[in-house]
Amino acid sequence: MFEREKKQVLDTALEIKRCGLVSLSGGNVSLRAGDGQYLVTPSGMIYEEMVPDDVCLIDDDCRVIEGERKPSSDASALVYMFQHLPVNAIIHTHQPWATACGFLTDELPDFLVTIMDACKNPVKVAPFTPSSAIGMGELAVEYTDDSLAVILKHHGVVTYGKDLEEALFAAVYLEESAKTFAIAKAMGAEIPALDPELIAKEKAGWETYGQ
Ligand SMILES: [Zn+2]
Repeated sequence: MFEREKKQVLDTALEIKRCGLVSLSGGNVSLRAGDGQYLVTPSGMIYEEMVPDDVCLIDDDCRVIEGERKPSSDASALVYMFQHLPVNAIIHTHQPWATACGFLTDELPDFLVTIMDACKNPVKVAPFTPSSAIGMGELAVEYTDDSLAVILKHHGVVTYGKDLEEALFAAVYLEESAKTFAIAKAMGAEIPALDPELIAKEKAGWETYGQ
C-alpha cells in the first residue's frame, strides 16, 4: 500500500540530507496516510541505504501495520502532532543554523520574505524536552502558534505542511533565514520590525508563486 507516498517520504528525506539539515540517520519524515495511519521513516537507517518499503506504516498507537522496520524513535511524538494539528506532513531535522538561533532568541521574527512565505508566521523556540518521547510532540504542538515551524531548544526543528513539499520549503527556508539572522546578529545589527500590512501583502503574493 501507499507505494507512491512511501517514495515521496524517502525522496523528501534524501532532500533534507542534501540540503544539510540532517546527518547520517538523523531526523525523520512522516506523512498522514489515511484515517489514523501514518507513514514514518524507520529508526536509525542511513537515508541513502533506504528503499521505499523501509518506510513504516503505523497506526495511532504506533503499531506497525505494514513494513519490516522499526519506526522512528520519535513516532509517538509524531503521532501526537498529527492528532492535534491540521497537517498532513511533518519533517524533523537537526539543522544547525536554526537550532543555534534557539540559543539566541525565543522567537525568530518574520523579518525576511523566506520566513513570511515558507513558515507563514514567526518561529517560536520550544524549551528542551527529551527526544524519542511524547513530550517532544506536546511542546511542538504548544509552540506552533500558526507557524509551519518550531525550533526545539537543544535539539533541532519540526516543520509542518499540507503536503511534504510545504514542510520541506519551511525547513529549508527556515535554515536560510536563521543563517541570515545569526550573521546579522553577529555583525551587531538591530533587526527592525516590519509593518504587518506589508507582511500580509508579501504572504498573499506567495500564494500564486510557482507553476
Ligand atoms: Zn531529533
